[in-house]
Amino acid sequence: MTIQWFPGHMAKARRQVTEKLKLIDIVFELVDARIPMSSRNPMIDEIVSSKPRIVLLNKADKADDAITKQWLEFFKEKGIHALAIDAQTGTGLKQITALSKVLLKEKFDKMAAKGIKPRAIRALIIGIPNVGKSTLINRLAKKNITKTADRPGVTTAQQWVKVGQELELLDTPGILWPKFEDQLVGFKLATTGAIKDAILNLQEVTVFALNFLKEHYPNRLIGRFHLDELPDEIVPLFDEIGKKRGCIMPGGYIDYDKTSELVLREIRADKLGRLSFETPKQFTEQ
Ligand code: GDP
Repeated sequence: MTIQWFPGHMAKARRQVTEKLKLIDIVFELVDARIPMSSRNPMIDEIVSSKPRIVLLNKADKADDAITKQWLEFFKEKGIHALAIDAQTGTGLKQITALSKVLLKEKFDKMAAKGIKPRAIRALIIGIPNVGKSTLINRLAKKNITKTADRPGVTTAQQWVKVGQELELLDTPGILWPKFEDQLVGFKLATTGAIKDAILNLQEVTVFALNFLKEHYPNRLIGRFHLDELPDEIVPLFDEIGKKRGCIMPGGYIDYDKTSELVLREIRADKLGRLSFETPKQFTEQ
């Protein structure tokens, strides 16, 4: 699914999220563990400021473990609660309920003191497209989607997904846009497969990816593409990979589009191992 974010759409998306926030106790903000900053909505802090929040670094199975640890530390230092998870296999999901209970203890204790009947914690999953929202909801739900629970004051029937006894989720996540006006952010989103290839120039995305790998993961590049050495310049690197993989056009020229497709496909399929495309250091230096 590609979503075109025109100003009208952005306003609508924001309105929808704001409406949903009224129904819940806590927000689970889903980001891509490989690019935790670039996969955030630029206005998220302001939009969800009224609710407690847990940042979930999803697809941690695809990210560089050492860098994910740095990100968890980074968020902790900023006073933001963050967990690394893999929504596809379910790794780390148990911590979500446990941490939610801690963060909402005071609110629920107060409700109990007022004689309000205990209920499950209500949560909303928010994130940019393709970050894994549906996967997470399905994984947590384990077929526990309830169709009945109309809440008073809500005109459209919201469906709640039960996660054990103590947590329930709105079944439709909040979808927000990424910070796509920033070109570097666009390249990172494209490299990790978060945005459709047709949106950006494939060769430009690959130039970004190869330069990044050259600087941060040179041995992975050399190993994967059986390079004798790592060329300093980007064009010879393209040429080397193209030659090794037979991306050649009639006349013996390197087919850069085909080479780009191949490189990006292999990065996204974790053929170069687990990769992270941004580090906290890059953001604290800015
Ligand atoms: P949504 O648009 O945010 O609802 O994203 P989806 O749930 O449709 O997920 C987008 C893609 O990411 C799908 O191909 C999922 O299988 C994949 N995905 C989601 N979570 C994970 C994860 O934790 N690990 C891996 N490896 N893939 C994931």
